[in-house]
Amino acid sequence: MSQIRVTVWNEFRHEREGGEAEECYPEGIHTVLAELFESEGFDVETATLDEPEHGLSEDVIEETDVLTWWGHAAHDEVADEVVERVRQHVLDGMGLIVLHSGHFSKIFKRLMGTTCDLKWRNEGERERLWTVEPSHPIAKGVDEQIVVPTAEMYGERFDVPAPDELVFMSWFEGGEVFRSGCCYRRGSGRVFYFQPGHETYPIYQQPEIRQVLGNAVEWAVSDDNQRTEYGEVAIPPEECE
Ligand code: ZN
Repeated sequence: MSQIRVTVWNEFRHEREGGEAEECYPEGIHTVLAELFESEGFDVETATLDEPEHGLSEDVIEETDVLTWWGHAAHDEVADEVVERVRQHVLDGMGLIVLHSGHFSKIFKRLMGTTCDLKWRNEGERERLWTVEPSHPIAKGVDEQIVVPTAEMYGERFDVPAPDELVFMSWFEGGEVFRSGCCYRRGSGRVFYFQPGHETYPIYQQPEIRQVLGNAVEWAVSDDNQRTEYGEVAIPPEECE
């Protein structure tokens, strides 16, 4: 197939506040993710909340095969019109990768139809992501477990529908567990939720995490662009004799 077109969307607020997030991601989380996806050979654009239409105009979305979404503090500032545009494109076959605190984004909640709430604690605990579906394309080249030395804990219950495919399951030092790599199909589109990635930890620099994200983009591209026809249909002519 032709080159995969990825749009990396980032809220890009924490990294401009002069604190730990800016130290960790001085150019923004989107820049680190864009470099990663470019190194995988994808055609990459970035978009951020404070751009007109949050950088997600119809033209941009139309030219996107896979959209990645990182947001945290300003989910409510994302315009409903843009959320609906993204949702429609997912149903039409665009891939969507929702990262970390994107669990509470409007787009993820709308696509899941649940609260998407969870337990959390930010004490810099160790996280082990267990690969529970090693034959899945998103786990390609990934070991049985990925250890993230310093992570924010997200714990069950995670109020999402049962994933169509669960690829990673996390354990945290405090004892909680979490479904950290969840695949969904919505309409013709594929959605992957991936838990790692707090703004003050350099998790998106970790090679194993980058491997998963690259795999996830390839998985999220729909196999074909075949559009399903809906509505009233006539009996096929050969049955009308
Ligand atoms: Zn976080």
